[in-house]
Amino acid sequence: MKKYILLVVIFSFGIGSLYFLEPHEFVVKGVKDGDVYAEDVNLHVETGLIQPSITLNGKEIHTKKTINQNGSYTLKVKSRFLWKEKRESMTFKRDDEPPLKPVLLEEPKNAYFQSASFQVKEEPGVKYKATLGKDPYLFGDEITTEGKHTLYLVAEKDNGLVAKNDYTFKIDNRTYSQQEVDTFSDFYFKNSPEIWKYKSDTVVFVHGNPKPEDVSRLKSDIQNLNNLLPFNLKYEEKITGLPDRRIDVHFMPTYEFNQMGFDGKIIDGNRKIIGVAVIDEAYRSFGIKASTILIGTETDQQERLPTITHELMHALGLHSHFETDRSSILYPDVNSNVQTWNEKDLKTLEILYHPNVTIGMEKEEFLNSLKDWVTN
Ligand SMILES: [Zn+2]
Repeated sequence: MKKYILLVVIFSFGIGSLYFLEPHEFVVKGVKDGDVYAEDVNLHVETGLIQPSITLNGKEIHTKKTINQNGSYTLKVKSRFLWKEKRESMTFKRDDEPPLKPVLLEEPKNAYFQSASFQVKEEPGVKYKATLGKDPYLFGDEITTEGKHTLYLVAEKDNGLVAKNDYTFKIDNRTYSQQEVDTFSDFYFKNSPEIWKYKSDTVVFVHGNPKPEDVSRLKSDIQNLNNLLPFNLKYEEKITGLPDRRIDVHFMPTYEFNQMGFDGKIIDGNRKIIGVAVIDEAYRSFGIKASTILIGTETDQQERLPTITHELMHALGLHSHFETDRSSILYPDVNSNVQTWNEKDLKTLEILYHPNVTIGMEKEEFLNSLKDWVTN
């Protein structure tokens, strides 16, 4: 018996300390205390001569084990040889679930007046980072730079998995008088219970036989409107592909309007229709998809030009008339002395296309959406 012990002691202190574990020694491989793993954990307890007692969450296991179920684990290894004992205990997690997509605490608005600040909705065990464009953003900081911004959110769990999200918004400091808002409201909601407009870039196609003056009017209107609209109108002479959003402008004699589906009277008493605008297709989530403008080519050039501008305003969603304002391009009857929009016409269009005025809004909601921008 004594010889045997002596032999082992020599063995373990001699060669053993260099190449082998002492009999009671063991090394846990594949996991570290406190770590979280997003993949399978290949646990391996390397042992000396003595087989240690190994338990995982209280259940005995062998020296090798693959852990492929998510959960919290406690590994206990205990080994004893004679008077020498070694115990080790460690906890770790296997979790292959990414964090939830990060969201802001409050649903953001499309636009803010002067400043905006954001907080993230926090989940336990998740760290959040945000950048505004390329710069780091600290939650709660005030953003005051006018214009369009994108806030990028990254959620990271301790298993290293991430989820991303981003929000686009504007700091918009244009203000309106209560009168301007009321003018819009009276003008717009007398003919429609809810807001409709284009939402994104729109191609303007020309058909038929426009005069060069018609084309330059259309082009200059488009150029001016692009300074005001939150997207671009693009003039195209030929139909190329199928754009998502379009306005088709047909130059044709008024007596051919019925071929385009116009079923009204061209001449009614002492009035003659020389231009028509119809919204052909619109969807709640998409906004207006297509509208058609008909311009009578037999009419006098000086009347045709303001008619183009008038119908373009209708096609963009301003479907009413300013019945009592003769200086407005949206006065129902064409007047060759009024060639272009007045300030009120442009304000009305600007309000329709305000980022916080959204498709489907009814009157009350509309009035609320602009509260921050109304100055008296
Ligand atoms: Zn009209």
